[in-house]
Amino acid sequence: MNRSRPGRPPYARRQEPPAQDGNKQFDELEASSLYCPKCKTAVPLRKRLLLVLPEGERYEYLCAHCSTSVGRKLKEATNKIQLIHTS
Ligand SMILES: [Zn+2]
Repeated sequence: MNRSRPGRPPYARRQEPPAQDGNKQFDELEASSLYCPKCKTAVPLRKRLLLVLPEGERYEYLCAHCSTSVGRKLKEATNKIQLIHTS
């Protein structure tokens, strides 16, 4: 069997270009479209940073067409210090 290597999605057959630091904007694709009550359809989103909190960053998702707020999300801080010394 010519299964692809573990850890690779099956559709990633083509040779990928060498990883570049400039390609990191794909980290945040979890919500690319949501239903907009004003446009009455699923719309592409704009993400806007609302607040930076100690526990993370609060984003608001806006309809790309009419700028109606269609959702919010708290992105937990990834650089939390998790070292706990209990000695
Ligand atoms: Zn809309």
